Amino acid sequence: DLLFTEGRVDFQNVCFSYTAGKEILSEVSFTVMPGQTVALVGPSGSGKSTIIRLLFRFYDVQGGCILIDGQDISKVKQNSLRSYIGVVPQDTVLFNDNIRENIRYGRISASDQEVEEAAVAADIHHKILSFPDGYDTEVGERGLKLSGGEKQRVAIARTILKSPRIILLDEATSALDSQTECNIQASLAKVCANHTTLVVAHRLSTIIKADQILVLHDGRIAEQGRINIK
Ligand code: ATP
Ligand code: MG
Repeated sequence: DLLFTEGRVDFQNVCFSYTAGKEILSEVSFTVMPGQTVALVGPSGSGKSTIIRLLFRFYDVQGGCILIDGQDISKVKQNSLRSYIGVVPQDTVLFNDNIRENIRYGRISASDQEVEEAAVAADIHHKILSFPDGYDTEVGERGLKLSGGEKQRVAIARTILKSPRIILLDEATSALDSQTECNIQASLAKVCANHTTLVVAHRLSTIIKADQILVLHDGRIAEQGRINIK
């Protein structure tokens, strides 16, 4: 099992390819200090989402290693790793169940009220109530229709409910109106305070708030730094 202490993340010379011959990440090294937020930026296809996927161990690295609190994540049980990490993917896929269980996912002990509070915080509660069956609405082929950004807010509600120690957020590129964006960021900031956060950032407002910015280019870290206007 992963022995979680403070939430430090280290990538050490990480190399990765999806298919033989085409290297997607080359010798990627960086550290996220406990409680810090790192923003990953870079052109489409540069490997940002891949970094998120590797940290959640959707795939294993092929060179180098990823450490959490000094422990190689490829050597701990996947369940114990994932119990500490909340992921909000770029394209959220919902499960074939009702919307309430989609938010409760993984936290079976959460009450209906806690589920709804998380939905309020993620700014998706009113949308859910607009369906005739509300939280009982089934998600599925003939179930509710949500936009990419709305699905991502369901995933954010799920993450708020899980309140994990490490948050991985792959921002949707779909434009949210600025008020919605502002509300969600405030909610996530509440959850993210004292949580180590890795965010693939498309919005300047997210980048500005980060403690460290990593610029990825062709699977390498081209630049890193921070914006000093806090
Ligand atoms: P975007 O900003 O468009 O989301 P990204 O920086 O997140 O881009 P990644 O999704 O990490 O990019 O993809 C990096 C590279 O890996 C791309 O060239 C992509 O085509 C390739 N890739 C991604 N997923 C797979 C996969 N499942 N199988 C094969 N190649 C993949
Ligand atoms: Mg991506």
